[in-house]
Amino acid sequence: MLIVDSELCIGCGVCEDNCAFGAIEVVDGCAVVSDACTLCGSCVDSCEVEALKIEGGEKSVQVDLDSWKGVWVYCEFRAGALAPVSLELLGAGRKLADARGVPLSAVLIGADTGESAEKLIGHGADTVYRIDNQALTYFTDESYGAVLTDLIKAHKPEIVLAGATAIGRSFIPGVANSLGAGLTADCTQLDIRADDGALLQTRPAFGGNIMATIVCPSSRPQMSTVRPKVMQALDFDEARQGEIVDVAPDPASLQTKVRVLESVISEQDNVNIQESDILVAGGRGLDSEKGFKLIRELAASMDGAVAASRAVVDAGWIGYPHQVGQTGKTVAPKLYIACGISGAIQHVAGMQSSETIVAINRDEDAPIFDVADFGIVGDMFEILPLLISKIEGKRGS
Ligand SMILES: Cc1cc2nc3c(=O)[nH]c(=O)nc-3n(C[C@H](O)[C@H](O)[C@H](O)COP(=O)(O)OP(=O)(O)OC[C@H]3O[C@@H](n4cnc5c(N)ncnc54)[C@H](O)[C@@H]3O)c2cc1C
Repeated sequence: MLIVDSELCIGCGVCEDNCAFGAIEVVDGCAVVSDACTLCGSCVDSCEVEALKIEGGEKSVQVDLDSWKGVWVYCEFRAGALAPVSLELLGAGRKLADARGVPLSAVLIGADTGESAEKLIGHGADTVYRIDNQALTYFTDESYGAVLTDLIKAHKPEIVLAGATAIGRSFIPGVANSLGAGLTADCTQLDIRADDGALLQTRPAFGGNIMATIVCPSSRPQMSTVRPKVMQALDFDEARQGEIVDVAPDPASLQTKVRVLESVISEQDNVNIQESDILVAGGRGLDSEKGFKLIRELAASMDGAVAASRAVVDAGWIGYPHQVGQTGKTVAPKLYIACGISGAIQHVAGMQSSETIVAINRDEDAPIFDVADFGIVGDMFEILPLLISKIEGKRGS
């Protein structure tokens, strides 16, 4: 909280000029702080008479960094199965832990988790903290957040990674807040800085135009979320040995104001473009919602799935679960066919790791051709029917 000492304040207005958030105003000769204050501290630094101070902010500055050790991955378990991103993060976490010379631990929260802990060890974890409790059958921010926060406080890992899934995005920020830690969302690269072992968290910034590397030098744990399909899982190794630690949660942490009556998997959520080997994606070049008929036919001819650019999702031609890109999903199929998509940087950010990219566009200068392995310049309404009949002909014979 930002405190103004009215005895010391001379109403000079320097703090008001320095506040980028418009959160301080001099009223009747004294600075007054509004709710817009972010506790950034720039006014404190600029106040020559030292009339401003932040109280309670010290909690996030933990000087004893060495007492925080180990790399942790929150491994999401939902609808009776581990989310694939958990295994991908174990792959990334393994490299970070080896670079730091510390163990890699997985945190498994849920009910009836079966053989999941053993699977996590096979995919790279040294230790699995398993909290398997019927009260955790359904995800709620409160209970999952409290259980994870308690565990982090008890064991003090230096790094905590989680998937930027609907669940991760929902409760991990609250966990970071309870711990007074920073959180870098949607990282695309994670490294260890050789000098001091700090986590280098790289993510797109300013609409994807630059890559920013974020460091938390003075607080622990260092927390990041990573989107599915960005990191690579290690192959399952049956011979890997690890320890499973069953943790009994504090009953107080299981208390929640939310009562889940029923959990249903919506048809929209069932569209898992991240798990398909072949994606046929449509963009504004489709002209209208009807254009997706051809895209669906081509996808069906190869047992693939349908993806889309944001322009057509915003236009309501197809649902958000199909969107690829910076504000959609990151995909890495074996084959990505982009039809009538210009190749804006925000779209490319979500599909450039595809093994083979084919682009169909009538504009030979469209940027999508810069990332494509094969390009077809022409009208997709002429090209797609030819492709479909060729593929169906081949499959038929
Ligand atoms: C913060 C931010 C986040 C964003 N996130 C995303 C994101 O997650 N995903 C995303 O996709 N975009 C995202 N965008 C939007 C992005 O910048 C582009 O506006 C969008 O990707 C354009 O979609 P498009 O390629 O379908 O449309 P357009 O850019 O309009 O391109 C249409 C293309 O179709 C071609 N074409 C037209 N008719 C035909 C035809 N008959 N045959 C063949 N080709 C044809 C044209 O030559 C053109 O290249 C984001 C933007 C911002 C600012």
